[in-house]
Amino acid sequence: MVKCTVCGVREAFYARRYSGEKFCVKCFLESIEDKVRSTIAKYNMFRFDDRIAVAVSGGKDSLSLLHILAKIERDFPKASLYAITIDEGIAGYRDEAIEIASENCESLGVKHFILSFKELYGYTLDDIVKRIRASGSKLTPCSYCGVLRRKALNTLATKVGATKIATAHNLDDEVQTFILNIIHGDIFRIPRTGPAFDEEPGLVPRVKPLCETLEKEVTLYAYLRGIRFQENPCPYAGEALRNDVRNMINRLEEKHPGTKYKIYRSAEKIREAIKDRSPKIILNQCKICGEPTVSEICQACNLLQNI
Ligand code: SF4
Ligand code: ZN
Ligand code: ZN
Repeated sequence: MVKCTVCGVREAFYARRYSGEKFCVKCFLESIEDKVRSTIAKYNMFRFDDRIAVAVSGGKDSLSLLHILAKIERDFPKASLYAITIDEGIAGYRDEAIEIASENCESLGVKHFILSFKELYGYTLDDIVKRIRASGSKLTPCSYCGVLRRKALNTLATKVGATKIATAHNLDDEVQTFILNIIHGDIFRIPRTGPAFDEEPGLVPRVKPLCETLEKEVTLYAYLRGIRFQENPCPYAGEALRNDVRNMINRLEEKHPGTKYKIYRSAEKIREAIKDRSPKIILNQCKICGEPTVSEICQACNLLQNI
């Protein structure tokens, strides 16, 4: 029997290739929770009295994050935790995810708030997709969904009085986004897509407590904790370039364990090196909806004007 290298007693079931550690189930689960605690501390993500809104989609990452934060929050009696979900209106997909998210919130005793695209914008994503396909637009459903969901999350978090939004981006997401920014030459986006954002007027600050945890370990955590999550992919999923970047990084990690962390550290160094040289963002109020924006009209209103 191969023993767990942490406790030295129980049988190991998982080998963390990049560090050489071998874990029993108990020590693995604790290692993930410890990693999240240390990420929160490293980036100073929360204050003791924050009202934290966890963006919960119903997938493995966001529900694992909710379970871990619910555990951590017990040590901070002045902090409070909510779950917020955006219902984009994707028939047969998001409705199932919302039901699963609500079930998890109920079992954890966490209040759950939902806001739909239909309520906020007057259209479901399915309505928007029908219109953009009929008009022959080259924009993808994800380009609408991403912009509209971002604004909806801020609106809902503001409505429930949240002082932070916690999103479930994991290490793989962060590394892919970094490489995509390099590919597109968007280097000044690198400081703005980090683990914790500076406060900007009108925007609830966002933090990413899973940003130093591998996606496959988050998935393993969810399975081992018996968390029910939605496994089916979104019917509109298809960001071709991101998928290729994901596959390329996975192949590198397979051959050279630790590559993902190395890329992540490189992103941190670049972020630090250019943070003072990034153009200062000046936020205006959108002339249509009043939300903060860098232009005269926010991206969401701009997209909605053209459907
Ligand atoms: Fe929205 Fe695209 Fe994600 Fe589907 S895959 S939920 S359309 S961003
Ligand atoms: Zn152990
Ligand atoms: Zn607007």
